[in-house]
Amino acid sequence: MDELLGIHHVTAVTGQARENVDFYTETLGLRLVKKTVNQDVTSTYHLFYGDEVGHPGTEMTFFDWPDVPHHIAGKGDVTAISFMVPDRAALVWWTDRFAREGVRAGAIEERYERAVVPFLDPEGQRLELVAGGPSHATPWKESPVPEEFQLGGFGAVTLTVDTLMPTAKFLTDILGFRQSGEYKFPDNPSRKAVVFSSGPGGLGTEVHVEERPDLPASQVGIGGVHHVAFRTPDDVQHRQWQQFLMQHGVAVTPVIDRYYFRSIYFREPGGVLFEIATDGPGFTADEDVSQLGQHLSLPPFLEPRREEIEKQLQPLEV
Ligand code: ZN
Repeated sequence: MDELLGIHHVTAVTGQARENVDFYTETLGLRLVKKTVNQDVTSTYHLFYGDEVGHPGTEMTFFDWPDVPHHIAGKGDVTAISFMVPDRAALVWWTDRFAREGVRAGAIEERYERAVVPFLDPEGQRLELVAGGPSHATPWKESPVPEEFQLGGFGAVTLTVDTLMPTAKFLTDILGFRQSGEYKFPDNPSRKAVVFSSGPGGLGTEVHVEERPDLPASQVGIGGVHHVAFRTPDDVQHRQWQQFLMQHGVAVTPVIDRYYFRSIYFREPGGVLFEIATDGPGFTADEDVSQLGQHLSLPPFLEPRREEIEKQLQPLEV
């Protein structure tokens, strides 16, 4: 099987679905490409944001879990999610926008020879914009953000773990990443991250790992990440990954059909939940591109329960 193609999606937790939609669509300018329910807890939304069609590599997704506690940051955690923008001029534009809209954001800083702007969503989700990188995203014409400044998919995810080596070995020896560099954090040079990449390499494929034994263990909750998924092109290679992980003693789930893609889940040694997902069939499996995200989508096995499910959900329209 081929190397993993890069980041597929990142799934995080929100306690305020309506505000979440506002921020990711109105402020960040992503398209809500799918409004469905958590397949295991059907009284809660699973929201997907992305480019015009929600291409793999652009999908930021949220479980709407209003009753869970707030996320506790620490080790075994995804501590940053970066989105690519074309260049430094775009970062300047975004910095102004964040200031106008009251988004908590830092100034432009240099990291790993790239310009980066860290910012937070309204629930404290740790996000970044990074300049440069090849965008595979299709612009969303109805976005409030002009095309030249739109987010071009994920750049990298940063993991924070107790001990670097087990996670590093897992990434390289099992998942086929290569170690491609390291950098110090500009605001605190005693902190360092090691960069791993896969497939084509560079932004879109990178996992940054910071070793922080001093931190408490993290806990999944509102404002935190649930898991990170990586891309494999098709079902054949997806099954091969499942077999390969099992043969290497990784506790991996069976292949699960998420309808818009197939999934397998496993935990890396530092405690972060990983997924490998197929590129297809994608979000146009049950809706036309022009209609994406406008209505509640249910996978066929939940369709018979639509009426009951819709009654339990809080409407998202303002
Ligand atoms: Zn997932």
